[in-house]
Amino acid sequence: MNLILLGAPGAGKGTQAVQIAEKYSVPHISTGDIFRKNIKEQTPLGIKAKSYIDRGQLVPDEVVVEIVKDRLSWEDCKNGYLLDGFPRTIAQAEALDKITEVGTVINIAVDLQKLMQRLTGRRVCADCGESYHISSFFGSKCSKCGGKVIQRDDDKEETVKSRLDVYVKQTAPLIEYYEKRGKLVSVDGMQSIPEVFAQICAELK
Ligand code: ADP
Ligand code: ADP
Ligand code: ZN
Repeated sequence: MNLILLGAPGAGKGTQAVQIAEKYSVPHISTGDIFRKNIKEQTPLGIKAKSYIDRGQLVPDEVVVEIVKDRLSWEDCKNGYLLDGFPRTIAQAEALDKITEVGTVINIAVDLQKLMQRLTGRRVCADCGESYHISSFFGSKCSKCGGKVIQRDDDKEETVKSRLDVYVKQTAPLIEYYEKRGKLVSVDGMQSIPEVFAQICAELK
């Protein structure tokens, strides 16, 4: 099962990805998570990526494509994978088509006005990456691993604005790209988390 999760920042990709990866036994590959791990460990990749991420800009295509190409060559991708947050530009999608046969692209559709609220209210576990939202999370520790729950630097209002702008200009055209190739299914991301998951599972049957 070669799956891609498409959607604006805050659409719920990470939230759904964890559940999809578990149910279908495929590795969850999040380019954002890979960057954050490298930033934490202060690797050369992390230092380079941080300058773009902090401004709400995309990391250059060549850099991201190399990372994904390498990751998809690992043994655990033999029977499929779930890409979360990649591709984000037409150039990345074209590069991906040269590396692998894309199966289904799941587009999680959420009204743009809703995204600001989701992103500025998002809190994440600094250790395992689990996503929470201030509307339903009141503690300070991750319920999965006990790690510290924090706000991502790029979830501050100013950065969110540029990320949403970047989404509209550079990522949204991928909806049509995959629609034309008959690979796109769209789910209503305005529903509750379990409802979105149920709709995704129904589409994958
Ligand atoms: P993405 O990976 O697409 O950026 P996340 O999965 O991190 O998005 O979700 C962004 C925020 O919205 C998080 O705070 C998450 O808890 C919340 N969220 C995700 N899905 C839903 C949903 N269906 N309804 C309400 N809030 C949601
Ligand atoms: P979100 O789902 O909230 O948009 P991610 O965790 O997927 O955030 O990504 C965080 C940041 O990492 C992005 O704003 C971007 O700067 C960078 N990034 C992640 N994936 C890609 C990609 N495929 N191409 C370029 N930059 C990326
Ligand atoms: Zn955790």
